[in-house]
Amino acid sequence: MNKRWTIDDIRNYVEKNSDSTLLTTEYHGFSQKLLFKCACGNNFEKTFKKFKNNHQRKCDVCQPPKASR
Ligand SMILES: [Zn+2]
Repeated sequence: MNKRWTIDDIRNYVEKNSDSTLLTTEYHGFSQKLLFKCACGNNFEKTFKKFKNNHQRKCDVCQPPKASR
């Protein structure tokens, strides 16, 4: 069962679960890239699926994609 996320749900999720801010104002599905603003001030794009399931909740500078430790 998939929860049907709305842009408001996502914005709340981002606020509660990360230091980043959601800049995108429309949500069309898991494959859509959303624009976030990292706590460091950088903007970055990420699908919500990656943000949520892969814990990629910061920009590539704060959280390099291949960091595997
Ligand atoms: Zn950052």
